[in-house]
Amino acid sequence: MTESKGYAAPAAHAPLAPFDFQRRDVGPHDVRIEILFCGVCHSDVHQVRNEWGGSIFPMVPGHEIVGRVTEVGAHVTSFKPGDLAGVGCLVDSCQHCDECAEGLEQYCDNGSVGTYGAVDKDGSITYGGYSNNIVVTEKFVLHVSEKLDLARVAPLLCAGITTWSPLRQWNAKAGDRVAVMGLGGLGHMAVKFAAAMGCEVTVLSTSPSKEADAKALGAHKFVVTKDAEAMKSVRNYFDLIINTVSAAMDLTPYISSLRLDGTMVLLGVPPEAPQLHAFNLIAKRRRIAGSLIGGIKETQEMLDFCAENNVMSDVEIIRMDYINEAYERMMKSDVKYRFVIDLATL
Ligand SMILES: [Zn+2]
Ligand SMILES: [Zn+2]
Repeated sequence: MTESKGYAAPAAHAPLAPFDFQRRDVGPHDVRIEILFCGVCHSDVHQVRNEWGGSIFPMVPGHEIVGRVTEVGAHVTSFKPGDLAGVGCLVDSCQHCDECAEGLEQYCDNGSVGTYGAVDKDGSITYGGYSNNIVVTEKFVLHVSEKLDLARVAPLLCAGITTWSPLRQWNAKAGDRVAVMGLGGLGHMAVKFAAAMGCEVTVLSTSPSKEADAKALGAHKFVVTKDAEAMKSVRNYFDLIINTVSAAMDLTPYISSLRLDGTMVLLGVPPEAPQLHAFNLIAKRRRIAGSLIGGIKETQEMLDFCAENNVMSDVEIIRMDYINEAYERMMKSDVKYRFVIDLATL
């Protein structure tokens, strides 16, 4: 075992504080990564506060991890010490069900292993990226290009892949009309990706104040959803809506902005069921779907696309001991668009 340090929540709602723990030794298929940066995801806050139930404490959150490989096991073939590496939301899965065979580990029939707060295959509890190092089986480690700004790569491992995957699954391509709801950590990546894919990108927002930011991120259009006339102008319009909003809402007016066979993909998890009038789906054979992060193969494709197209998150880099304040600010959407911890400050 290797002495490791990080920041942990000792109990639900307790502030995060310094925490010493042990990582397993590097096994034959393992890679050890010295963590350089870790993004701060909304799900970190939900899990630290046990809002989804089942949280395990002490909890070391963090699943947007970028760092440098320091040690590899005897059977590791695709990484060597000194390589850059990334780890996202998953560190393992059964690796033999149909979903895993297709590279869709996030939908593993037997339950994939989350990067933190989960029970690993050896029975230990996983600890995430708010720490100085992590040991992960090679299959779940991503290659990161030396070309990119590492702090700005970290959020790609969750916010990035969560929005990339539905854009790819629903075949977003040049000329398609894509709308993005919610301009936070996820939404800002959806705008950047869809724009980089050549789509016509519209941000649907409740607050007119976000127009300049939306356009700066690459959006072509901005529609204030409270403005009935503006919403009328996009009736039967979009091929795809990426909905990142996690507040309870009536989906009906948004569904009406989909054209024939258009799809709204839900990425956020509101505490209450969304409202929806079935007729608005029926009228134009519209669809509602959901999507969960992305598989390892797809995550690598996204990282490679980002390296080629110079796509990265917009981040605010913070010290480790700022994390509790960062959570408070994040809950007020007071960040553009992702906090990233510089682990050199641990
Ligand atoms: Zn996340
Ligand atoms: Zn599986």
